[in-house]
Amino acid sequence: MPTQLPLLFLESLEGLAGFDRIAFENVHQSGEQLTSIRFNPDKVKQVSFMEASVEEAVPWASQGYYLSRRPSFTLDPIFHAGAYYVQEASSMFLEEVLKQTTDLSLPIKILDLCAAPGGKSTLIQSLISNKSLLVSNEVIKARVNILAENITKWGAANVIVTNNDPKDFQRLQNYFDVIVVDAPCSGSGLFRKDATAIDEWSLQNVTLCSQRQQRILADVLPALKEGGTLIYSTCSYAESEDEAVADWLMNEGGLLSTKININPEWNIVETQSLQHHAFGYRFYPDKVKGEGFFIAAFTKGEKGKPDWQTTKYKTKSERLIAKEIDIIKPYLKDANDFFFIKQKEEVLALPIHLENDLATFQFSLYIKKAGVKLGSIIRNELIPHHELALSTVINPALPFVEVDRETALQYLRRQEIKIDTTLKGWVLLTHLQLPLGWVKVLPNRINNYYPKDWRIFNK
Ligand code: SAM
Repeated sequence: MPTQLPLLFLESLEGLAGFDRIAFENVHQSGEQLTSIRFNPDKVKQVSFMEASVEEAVPWASQGYYLSRRPSFTLDPIFHAGAYYVQEASSMFLEEVLKQTTDLSLPIKILDLCAAPGGKSTLIQSLISNKSLLVSNEVIKARVNILAENITKWGAANVIVTNNDPKDFQRLQNYFDVIVVDAPCSGSGLFRKDATAIDEWSLQNVTLCSQRQQRILADVLPALKEGGTLIYSTCSYAESEDEAVADWLMNEGGLLSTKININPEWNIVETQSLQHHAFGYRFYPDKVKGEGFFIAAFTKGEKGKPDWQTTKYKTKSERLIAKEIDIIKPYLKDANDFFFIKQKEEVLALPIHLENDLATFQFSLYIKKAGVKLGSIIRNELIPHHELALSTVINPALPFVEVDRETALQYLRRQEIKIDTTLKGWVLLTHLQLPLGWVKVLPNRINNYYPKDWRIFNK
């Protein structure tokens, strides 16, 4: 469908670096739609593995690919297994910005402040080391569930999902090495993908968004370490939401701008803000194979202030006793990498080096999800949780049954399934070798344990 752009909107973009009105209007009128996905490197080792047709690589993303057509992701079992995330290509450029600003081989703490539904968070998780921590936060309660679901599907244990207002992070002064603020914005960069967003666009809304962006940044900046990196992005073209906010960060936040090296073939437009010449990177759909996007990186002063870690907290949670740890050990690839806590009756596994962070957050934030939920121990047996099935910490030697696509879809619809197996008890169901979830094999039937809330309804 061609997208008709409002005159007032087009006029507001005149004079912006890289804006070519005719090409911009043409690309919106062409009706062309792009679909891109990003593989989960902890689950997918080769691209040919994907059923949908992969066309070409996204030039700035190591795991990003364009698809030649948009398949029904709902009807692709490995989508539900967390094999890939459907993400707009321009926003995958965060990878390049992170790589050029941060030593990702070090154990770092990184906050993704505006994280739902989880596109940037899953990307960040794939780039950081196992010893690093990602706090994936979303302020809007109704959007935290989808974030937690996508993080669960991605499968990593070094992520904590929180549901906090940006100002709550002031309790964690000088804590994070990197903060990513993918701010709520007026959304003009997505007009080609979603023409209904045009109805909500107005100059007043752009102004409101710009003010809100500054408030969010002011609230969260104290949580960034001295010498740490702030990455700011929007999907708006508006100068007042992009370069003007970069100027504000340098004025009010005392930050320094960081230049990112870009390959000229990528056609990304480097801009500089009016006042402080802060570098920013603009993506126009008539120039790149992606939607409208803006991203900029900054450093906070010099290194020097002591880290937060001077305060040691003890987790409030109940710990597992040795006998209970023995019960869960066989379910994990390497149980020695984790510490275990109990929440109500459920056991959680978190990387050992995150113990102090978890305790700190228990005192300061609302935690929606932490690490991987392994299940409940009942009568000396683990009743395994769905999170464990989808996690990358699961022991690959656990009993499993590989099923075809039709059976996988029946399972995902939470229907009755039939499988031919001699196994008994808790068994993982896999499709293309990727775990989809648990079934319990009983003498005369198979119980389907796919989570009710996640089941698919699509025929
Ligand atoms: N980073 C996400 C991704 O890549 O999937 C997309 C984030 S979206 C552009 C902006 C997010 O900011 C939304 O999830 C929205 O709910 C959240 N948000 C809205 N108002 C906010 C506020 N006042 N403070 C912080 N976040 C807010």
